[in-house]
Amino acid sequence: QQVDIDRVITAAIDQNRVTADAQRIQLVSGGDRRTRVWGDEAMLVSAVHNLIANAIQYSVAPARVGIGVSQRDDVVEIAVTDQGIGIPEEELDRVFERFFRVDQARARATGGTGLGLSIVKHVAQNHGGDVRVWSQPGRGSTFTIRIPRVVDEPSAAPQPVKARA
Ligand code: ATP
Ligand code: MG
Repeated sequence: QQVDIDRVITAAIDQNRVTADAQRIQLVSGGDRRTRVWGDEAMLVSAVHNLIANAIQYSVAPARVGIGVSQRDDVVEIAVTDQGIGIPEEELDRVFERFFRVDQARARATGGTGLGLSIVKHVAQNHGGDVRVWSQPGRGSTFTIRIPRVVDEPSAAPQPVKARA
């Protein structure tokens, strides 16, 4: 089934709006969202939702969280950026593991199970894509989901038939 990326982003942002307001985090979105992918809308919403929820949870208010969409060739990239606490380099590989949380003591204080990012990874992979992270402690993090998008073939439109001489 074809899923509209604009609907996915809008729903994921809406789901985080109340928390963001309460924690004085501004959600800022940009980019061209007019594209579609093959897959499951609810799964994609939950993946983007998880990334935004993390970005809010691991920010220090007041702050901004960016949700950007970009398209290149046959992939759509959804990037969620925060200016939060970041992740130490030696932990970066592990954040997508189930139940893994950076600094267990600190993580316990903020609640959560450590499942969010493993779900994001599964959803991205189930859609033929992947998720990547860039992060620096004290500076922030960017999580990027890349998924193949539906590319409309111009040649699929009916072509005028030339009469033979
Ligand atoms: P939950 O299951 O409720 O999502 P969680 O947020 O702890 O719990 P994940 O979303 O899987 O679990 O994230 C795993 C760990 O990666 C987090 O505990 C946190 O230490 C780190 N992390 C994830 N996102 C960020 C972020 N945007 N900035 C800093 N650290 C992050
Ligand atoms: Mg989480």
